[in-house]
Amino acid sequence: MDSEPRRLVVVSNRLPVALREAADGGWEVKAGAGGLVTALAPVLRNRGGVWIGWSGAPDPAADPAADVDGLLARFSAEAGYDLRTVSLTREEVDGYYSGFSNGVIWPLFHDLQTRCRFDPDCWRTYLDVNFKFAEIVARRTTADDYVWIQDYHLMHQAFFLKSMGVKRRTGFFLHIPFPPPDIFIKLPWRWKVIKALTEFDLVGFQTLQDRRNFAACLRRLMPEAKVSGRGAVVTADMGNRRFRLGAFPISIDFQQFDAMARRDDVAGEAFKIREALRHRKIILGVDRLDYTKGIPERIRAIGTLLRRYPDIQGTFNFVQIAVPSREEVGEYRELRTEIEQLIGRVNGEFSFPGWVPVHYHYRSLPHDELVAYYAAADIGLVTPLRDGMNLVAKEYCAASTDGDGVLILSEFAGAAAQFQRDAYLVNPYDTEGVARALHRTLHWDKAQRVEHMTRLREQVRRNDIFRWVDSFLKAGISRRLGDFPEAETLRLGRG
Ligand code: UDP
Repeated sequence: MDSEPRRLVVVSNRLPVALREAADGGWEVKAGAGGLVTALAPVLRNRGGVWIGWSGAPDPAADPAADVDGLLARFSAEAGYDLRTVSLTREEVDGYYSGFSNGVIWPLFHDLQTRCRFDPDCWRTYLDVNFKFAEIVARRTTADDYVWIQDYHLMHQAFFLKSMGVKRRTGFFLHIPFPPPDIFIKLPWRWKVIKALTEFDLVGFQTLQDRRNFAACLRRLMPEAKVSGRGAVVTADMGNRRFRLGAFPISIDFQQFDAMARRDDVAGEAFKIREALRHRKIILGVDRLDYTKGIPERIRAIGTLLRRYPDIQGTFNFVQIAVPSREEVGEYRELRTEIEQLIGRVNGEFSFPGWVPVHYHYRSLPHDELVAYYAAADIGLVTPLRDGMNLVAKEYCAASTDGDGVLILSEFAGAAAQFQRDAYLVNPYDTEGVARALHRTLHWDKAQRVEHMTRLREQVRRNDIFRWVDSFLKAGISRRLGDFPEAETLRLGRG
C-alpha cells in the first residue's frame, strides 16, 4: 500500500460520455466536453487509467437490445482508457440520483434547506447504490491504484470499500459547497454522512470556507476529532486514524478558451452578435436553469436598473442563456415558467420600437457559439445564490481576450474567494445593489475595465484545471499529472 500508485481510477456518478438514442432507435456515444474530462484524460490516456460511472443509459436487463457495453468498449479503445459502467435501474436512479443526491444534498449544501425532501427511502437507495459502485470499484481496481471519487453522489465509497475489507488509497473531491453546521445538522443522516467522509484519505473542497465548514461540522458531530495544521491542506486526527482536508479550487482549461475566442470564425461570430444588437453594451448571464443560480433575482435586478436609472434605457441588452436541466423535476419546470414570466414582464414594461431589453435563449449552445457570446459581452453577470465554484465566471474571463470586460460576481460563488480583488462582488439577493453595480460598471472607462480584467485573466491562466489536478494529486499521493507511467512502462514494470 505504501508503494507509488501506478494507475489513476476516477469514479463519478456519470461517465465522461454522453449516450444518446440514435435516429435508428439504438444508442450512440459521444465524448463529454466538461473541464473534468479535459483535465483528467491526459492522466488516464495510455497510462492504464480507468473511469467508473453510470452511463446514463437504461439498465441492460431492462433493454437488452441496447449494446451499451459494446459502444463503450469501442469508445475506450479510442480514448486510451477504460470506461467501466455501473448499471442502474429506473428505481435506483429515482432514489439515489433524483431523490437523495439532487433532492436532499444539492439544496442542503447550497444553503436552501427548505427545498429538501428528507425521504428515508431515498436515503436507503443512496446507500444501496453507493454499495453497488463500491463493489465495482473493488473488483476493477488493485491496491496499487489511486481511487479518486468525484462529488456528492458518492460520499460513501471509502466507507463501503473498508466495510468490505478492501484496502485502497482514496481521495474525494466535493464539487459543491459544504454548508455550515447550523444547516448541515438538519440532515437526518448527518452523523452517517460525516462519518463516511472521514473514511477517505483526503477530502477536497472548493474553498477554504467549505473546508472550515466541514471541520466545524466534524467537531460538532464527532467531538473526538482534532483538526490541526495551516495552509491549504490540514490534518484531521480521529484518535485511531488520520485523514486530510484540503481546499482545491477547480478551474478551466484557460488556453482552450483563450485560443477559441481568438479563432477568426469565433471572433466573427462575436462581431455578428454585437452587430445584431446594434453595438449596444451586452450584459451576459449563462447558467444551467437551476434554482441555485439566482436567475429570477437577476432579472428583477435588470428591472430595477431600468426603473431606477431611466437614462440607461435603450443603451444595453441583457442576454440570458439558460441551459435546460433536470426538466423531469416539477420544481425546475416551475422555475422555468417563473423566469419566462419575469422576462415577459420586464420586456413588456420597458421595450420600445427597435429595442427589447432582455434576450433569452433556453437551450444549450455549441461550445464555439458560447465562447462567441463570452467574447461579445461587456459585462459577465454571474449571480448565483450559492455555488461551489462557478466555471462560467472563469470561462468569461478566459474568453475576454482583449482584456476589456467586467465581471460582476456573487459573493456566494466559490470563485469569489479568488476573484475578490478584481470582480465587482454583489449580494445576489440585493436587487438594488446588483442594479447599482450594473449602473456603475456600465459607466466604467476602458482603462478601469482592462485593469481588472487583465488581473482576472492572469489569475485564471495561472490557476487552471491542470494545476487543480496537480495540487489534488500532490496532496493525495505526492504525485503530479505527468508522473503516472505510460502504458509501456507499466506493462514492463508489471511483467
Ligand atoms: N455550458 C454548456 N453549454 C451551454 C452553456 C454552458 O455546456 O450552452 C457549460 C459552461 O461552459 C460551464 C458549465 O456549463 O462549463 C457550467 O458550469 P458552472 O460551474 O458554471 O455551473 P454548474 O452547471 O456546474 O452548476
